[in-house]
Amino acid sequence: MIKKPNIAIISLTCCEGCQVAILDLGERLLKLTEKVKIGDFAMLEDYPEPENFDIVFVEGTPITSENIRRVKNLRQRTKYLITIGACACLGGIAELKNYQDKDQRLRYVYKNVEGIDNPDIKPVKHYVKVDLEIPGCPINKEEFLDVAKKLVAGVFPKIPQRPVCYECQLKRNECLLQKGQPCLGPVILGGCGAPCPSSNYPCDGCRGPLKGAAINNFNNKLKEIYGFSQREIDLIMQRFGMLNDMYPEPPAIKGNLKVNKLID
Ligand code: SF4
Ligand code: SF4
Ligand code: SF4
Repeated sequence: MIKKPNIAIISLTCCEGCQVAILDLGERLLKLTEKVKIGDFAMLEDYPEPENFDIVFVEGTPITSENIRRVKNLRQRTKYLITIGACACLGGIAELKNYQDKDQRLRYVYKNVEGIDNPDIKPVKHYVKVDLEIPGCPINKEEFLDVAKKLVAGVFPKIPQRPVCYECQLKRNECLLQKGQPCLGPVILGGCGAPCPSSNYPCDGCRGPLKGAAINNFNNKLKEIYGFSQREIDLIMQRFGMLNDMYPEPPAIKGNLKVNKLID
């Protein structure tokens, strides 16, 4: 067990919804905070930062140069750096820009674009070594608590590699894919408890790809059996910044992405 580890929960560019999910743990979070020293958790309180941390949880996408500097600096000061949420793990919603004409996107938002940085969007692991990823949009607070408790107890946790379908079928849901809806559950990492298919909404893949999933086969099945176009499949996979994680090489950044071959 790490004796009263120094932990931080840090936000880069994002909606901070993953921090809200953590706060939603309520009394169980307070119980956990008795066993740790909090070095930074802006949404809870403004703490004076210690020199070094044991565990840093990072939410959000490193978009600004300040974000990138911050995450690189934290990496040097912590034993474990753990990304939380689709923004930090995959690039998240902001990565939609990578799949479109990013200069045009900028003009939609700002009248005067001169002097405004418009970088390509990349997840945290592009900039620094990441020890563990807790994906999702937002994260599953129960999974976060489980990971945090294990780390505090000195056990390095693992995220079980099971598809969303595993939890969906435990809940005895009617399969949306079999009803002809584009549910990505078979190739997406489970652990969320399958809230979307349980609410009759197909899984959009906010937890990213399941390791070793036969993505190419699944992609072909969506087209051959269910009649979806490649463009429709790509648009779903773009939502949480997952599309480029399906490729051996990052996709072309400029213009609308044309998908030819997905990896297995
Ligand atoms: S992963 Fe989703 S909930 Fe979490 S910070 Fe990003 S947009 Fe917000
Ligand atoms: S609804 Fe989706 S997640 Fe559930 S079993 Fe069918 S394909 Fe899998
Ligand atoms: S079912 Fe899919 S989209 Fe919904 S929370 Fe789970 S991984 Fe994310």
